[in-house]
Amino acid sequence: MGEFDLIARYFSNIGVKRTDVSIGVGDDGAVLQVRDGYDIVVTTDTMVAGTHFFPDVDPRALGHKLVAVNVSDLAAMGAEPTWLSLAMTLPSADESWLAQFAAGLHETAEYYNCQLIGGDTTRGPLSFSMMAKGQVPRGKAITRAGAKVGDYIYVTGTLGDAALGLKWVQGQCEISKKHQGHVLQRFHYPSPRVALGQALRNTASSAMDISDGLAGDLPHILRRSGVGAYVDIQRLPMSQALKDSCTAEEAMHLALSGGEDYELLFTVPENRRGSLDVLLSPYGVPITCIGRITGAVGKLELKTGEQPYAYQHQGFQHFL
Ligand SMILES: [Mg+2]
Repeated sequence: MGEFDLIARYFSNIGVKRTDVSIGVGDDGAVLQVRDGYDIVVTTDTMVAGTHFFPDVDPRALGHKLVAVNVSDLAAMGAEPTWLSLAMTLPSADESWLAQFAAGLHETAEYYNCQLIGGDTTRGPLSFSMMAKGQVPRGKAITRAGAKVGDYIYVTGTLGDAALGLKWVQGQCEISKKHQGHVLQRFHYPSPRVALGQALRNTASSAMDISDGLAGDLPHILRRSGVGAYVDIQRLPMSQALKDSCTAEEAMHLALSGGEDYELLFTVPENRRGSLDVLLSPYGVPITCIGRITGAVGKLELKTGEQPYAYQHQGFQHFL
């Protein structure tokens, strides 16, 4: 038995045992039972050492994050996560590292009620590519294309914390002791808004998850929907940790352009807005209205109160 075959054993029982998996890991392909009246949603994310994670990252945290970022895309579509597959490229088979990585995958897959149903291992520079599949009642997936002029723009949770965590890990800022735990948690263990995403199926006109920063991600909705938007930057939700650790300007920059928060960004028509608080209160995740959709196609205006706010978005670079 080759070393990679040995390692494959660590990955044969990841996540829950779902009853809709007829054949999982170990055959040429997985066989899955699709629920009547449901659509399948498929997404994929790759994480490369040196680009998306530090080569010396805690492998357990990495396993968590790989599942979380994929599940977050399903959450953004209003889908219920179900199945995962994983392609691994490894320079060598470091068994204890892989055992920790598998434990991180397992804990998070289990938490989101998913099962790893297959994968592949090759030798090469360290990188992981995961595909996640979810299910949504037929025709109910939330897309980036449904925002209409006049809709209100919302975000979940707080923005900028994960980017602050990255800065701190890189020794580029100071964070007081009381905030360190929160910031590291947000950077290493993002919490995809899965239940909340499903609750938005009949309410949100569009949605996506924020992986590259609000100022970089909102334009995707604007382009796909053929609309514009304004955002009042005074309303951006920020944690106390972010406010206490940065100047006001730096905090604003991280909230606008910092990546990896994995919060949801969504739009809601005016006539469905009244029921939002009641609808979302069971999930314990705050939501904040930050602006509105406009007819200025493709244009994102940032305002501070009524004044325009000049800001040049720099695309989020994971490690720069
Ligand atoms: Mg996404």
